[in-house]
Amino acid sequence: MSLSIKSVVLGLIALLVVLLGTWQLVNSRQVQLFGELVNRVDTDQKVIALTFDDGPAPGNTEAVLTMLAAEDVKATFFLVGSAMELHPRETMLIANAGHEIGNHSYSHQRMVLMSPGAVREELERTDALIRQSGYQGPILFRPPYGKKFVMLPWYLSHRDMTSVTWDLEPESHGDIAGNSQAITRYVLDKAKPGSILLLHVMFRSRQASLDAVPGIIEGLKAKGYRLVTVSELLALRP
Ligand SMILES: [Zn+2]
Repeated sequence: MSLSIKSVVLGLIALLVVLLGTWQLVNSRQVQLFGELVNRVDTDQKVIALTFDDGPAPGNTEAVLTMLAAEDVKATFFLVGSAMELHPRETMLIANAGHEIGNHSYSHQRMVLMSPGAVREELERTDALIRQSGYQGPILFRPPYGKKFVMLPWYLSHRDMTSVTWDLEPESHGDIAGNSQAITRYVLDKAKPGSILLLHVMFRSRQASLDAVPGIIEGLKAKGYRLVTVSELLALRP
């Protein structure tokens, strides 16, 4: 190979490595460039945080709140600003029931390549809607699709906001997602002290996830677990 071809090939390989690294960084559940990202907490205590993404949506909000109330469990809801605007009543029901509410962006777009101004707008508008519901607790952030790169983490660290992902995601397995018993079995099998469980329960397409909630809670309790909010879980860190 001539020297110039060799250097072009080496250059392309280097570019590929950088692109792959960038892509991994965008998608990583454990790492981000700035600020704090948490996907679980290392603890010996048998505690698990139950988190619900997206919405609120009418109907399923009431359904999941009823299930949580019956088990006397507090969960963390990562809500979308545009959905809170459409459904202020459901947002208020979640706040009034004493659950934790997190910021899951305003428009639920991928925020990887967003401008600084757009990132700020997405977060501040959503924070304001959370506060309008009467919710007074801490506001954690969860990036839509778990994706983030430079601007979003930089802004979050600037605002001292913690990003929260998850270490338990039964719905990501196609053979499990449609079956509530399979979802429950997966969670009970994989749950570890300090885990953060992600479920989507607001949409009709995720009926199996909603139906799995009581079994998951009862099963975890039977194994000696206590269900806590994400902020309560974070407070257990050394
Ligand atoms: Zn989402």
